[in-house]
Amino acid sequence: MAPNPYFPTTRDLPASRKRQILDCILNLIYPETCSICSVPLARRQDCGICAACWDKAVALKIEPPRCSCCGLPLNNFDKSGEYLCGKCILDLPPYSGARAFGYYTGELSHLIQALKFHGRRNLVGLLAPLLASIFFESWSQADFDLIIPVPLHSKRKRERGYNQSELLARALAARIAMPFSGRTLVRSRSTLPQVGLSDSRRFENVRKAFCCVDPMQIKNKRILLIDDVMTTGATASSAAQTLIDAGCFRVSVLTIARTAL
Ligand SMILES: [Zn+2]
Ligand SMILES: [Zn+2]
Repeated sequence: MAPNPYFPTTRDLPASRKRQILDCILNLIYPETCSICSVPLARRQDCGICAACWDKAVALKIEPPRCSCCGLPLNNFDKSGEYLCGKCILDLPPYSGARAFGYYTGELSHLIQALKFHGRRNLVGLLAPLLASIFFESWSQADFDLIIPVPLHSKRKRERGYNQSELLARALAARIAMPFSGRTLVRSRSTLPQVGLSDSRRFENVRKAFCCVDPMQIKNKRILLIDDVMTTGATASSAAQTLIDAGCFRVSVLTIARTAL
């Protein structure tokens, strides 16, 4: 994908009369299209996604039953029961529970890729409520002390200009009124992108890739770790293990999407 072809628009300006006028002019000379299906859109605070594509993204929500540890959707089980998937039975991950809003496919994957690779930071405004909705399905604020994002290596963050997981975590923390720290966990070594690696290489790639730079801040605390996508859980496991080794009480993981393996 082309790196960051972000066309400057008025969308990132706060709502105001000036913004309305600029939107009208831009709609005349450069009408916007839905970044997923390309239907024409009026440039407003719609984040460049048409209502039909948004509805399709929301319809990708993962419903129970799911693995009570890693959150993997499970078929042919009673909805109300508590189950572990085969992988978690064989090798329980270091985190206490992982939940994702929806499947990493179709419109939901397009939204995440637009946020991650196309500079569409304002999509955080649409995606953070999805995180909040799935958060309240499994937990409440009383279950956690601190929200922490999965960090990017400083080199990658410089190239991209931001860490999408940090934007999501910060927006979620503001939405549900919980403490946030974007500086406690850092990526101490640069890793290959996980895409295209086998399961075992994914775990090897991120092993000991993180470092907790402020153990006192997480000591005996219950941490909610935020990432955009979970695939094998390798990144979440490595980050969670680092936090546990540094003295936190437990780590749970929340992502926008996960791949159904
Ligand atoms: Zn569309
Ligand atoms: Zn599982």
